[in-house]
Amino acid sequence: MNKIIIVGSGIGGSGIGALISKETQYQVSLFEKNKIIGGRCASYEKFDDQGRKWIFDIGCHIISTCDKGPLGEILNRCGKGDNVKWSYTRNPGPRVNIMGMELIKMDKKKRTQGKTAKETTKKKKETFTEYITKMPLEETWNYDKMSLNELFQQYYGSRGGIMSRLMYTMQGAVMFGTSPDTTSAGEFLRSVGFNNRKMSMGYPFGGTGVIPETYCNIIRENKGNIYLGKEGDVKKIIVEDKKVKGIEAGLDNEFYEAEIVIANSDIKTTVLNLVGENHFPKDYVKYIKDLKWGGQVCSLKVGIDKIVTDHKMLTYMPKIELSEMKGKSIYQIDFTEMFFMNQQVPEKTGLLIVPISNHDPALAPEGCQNIHTVTATALGDTVKWSVEDEKKWEKTCFNSLFTLWPEIEDHLVVKDFIATSQLAARFGKEGAGTGIAQSVDQVGKNRPSMISPIKGLYFCSGDAGGWGIGTELPARSALELFDILKKNDFSN
Ligand SMILES: Cc1cc2nc3c(=O)[nH]c(=O)nc-3n(C[C@H](O)[C@H](O)[C@H](O)COP(=O)(O)OP(=O)(O)OC[C@H]3O[C@@H](n4cnc5c(N)ncnc54)[C@H](O)[C@@H]3O)c2cc1C
Repeated sequence: MNKIIIVGSGIGGSGIGALISKETQYQVSLFEKNKIIGGRCASYEKFDDQGRKWIFDIGCHIISTCDKGPLGEILNRCGKGDNVKWSYTRNPGPRVNIMGMELIKMDKKKRTQGKTAKETTKKKKETFTEYITKMPLEETWNYDKMSLNELFQQYYGSRGGIMSRLMYTMQGAVMFGTSPDTTSAGEFLRSVGFNNRKMSMGYPFGGTGVIPETYCNIIRENKGNIYLGKEGDVKKIIVEDKKVKGIEAGLDNEFYEAEIVIANSDIKTTVLNLVGENHFPKDYVKYIKDLKWGGQVCSLKVGIDKIVTDHKMLTYMPKIELSEMKGKSIYQIDFTEMFFMNQQVPEKTGLLIVPISNHDPALAPEGCQNIHTVTATALGDTVKWSVEDEKKWEKTCFNSLFTLWPEIEDHLVVKDFIATSQLAARFGKEGAGTGIAQSVDQVGKNRPSMISPIKGLYFCSGDAGGWGIGTELPARSALELFDILKKNDFSN
């Protein structure tokens, strides 16, 4: 039987493994150096002092289109669409808290209260959100080289739409880990437009890890192998005469033969260390070295013995004092720069907050709440934070959380803080949330190809191919790569 090896069990690795196992005769062996499956999307158990079980995720996730998007498409194509149950972010829907003001979508009754019939039926200009939602997917590729700020400028001119600008600037930072000057308008329009049309944002019952675990079960059910921990640690990808031969993995550097190796491991480490630069053309090595990561992140999770919120998802931006505006008008301030781009730890920070037990109560003991948060620690150039700085980042996340719900402090039962350096050490990509940045120069045609210059070596992750938000980027990478492999009869 022909053999395919996959390095890494993130969404890209486990997703492509599931598709190949289910739809072809190839035998898949997946190697994961961590003890848990799923990379940045993994979940793990945590026990409090009373021995009660909590489920924590490595990241802090809201899934943009759940079963209606690429993660669900992989499950459906493998006949496992019903194996993952989703909780949608509804009742209440997603909320945004900008500088202490909670933006809630008003219902029609409130919007029309006190207005005459003529006023309520008056034709209004299309909103920015409607403009995004209506744009056909094919058209979005024309905007790849435009930045989000340029898109605001094109739509609003130099003034106007302040709330919308603030909200979408925050959303761009949360979705892609990029600032509005570098976020690709094309990627933004594709992703937000797709979300708005699908209206299926949410979270999986059981924790995000159920998604890659279900993909890996599909591999196992189809006679594939999964190697975890020390056994699954790939030390080298063996290449001879520009052709892949297999890998060396495990404590004894055992050789495993394969004619195809798919790397879900980060693209820079794969090219520069696992294979070695000498196997690639010089200009390709330079290209790989010059690629920029998306925003680095850290994640604070708290388990509390009190219910403090009914939110299912909240994007929070802290209040800015007038002195911090340094005489600038609100249109001149780059909020992402203020919080994330000055290579210093701020006192307060923007957070994506997902109280995951409001999606699935089984993720916390009865009467308790499990709240996950994520913040960017750098947008743009990567930063090597010191141990002291990472402690400060934890404090900054707590400060921001306490601003919203001060009672958390007295009701804290368990917590975990995953610092940028921990993410980097365990999962690579220098601690980036997603992978190669979805910036103006690195999306669409300029995205790293999933096909490498070496015969039989492919990339499948948030670093190559695909489009979309977070987990959906590597899921699309898996779907696209599978179609390419099938079309080429599994040979390049
Ligand atoms: C804090 C945080 C918050 C996030 N929030 C969201 C969100 O709200 N919504 C969303 O959709 N996405 C979110 N994301 C992003 C999302 O989790 C990632 O984009 C996605 O999981 C990345 O998948 P991947 O397949 O590219 O690779 P990864 O998850 O990085 O997996 C790569 C795997 O390869 C393994 N590996 C590397 N080298 C080797 C080796 N030598 N041998 C064996 N194995 C190896 C690694 O251990 C890892 O498991 C968030 C991420 C983080 C960290």
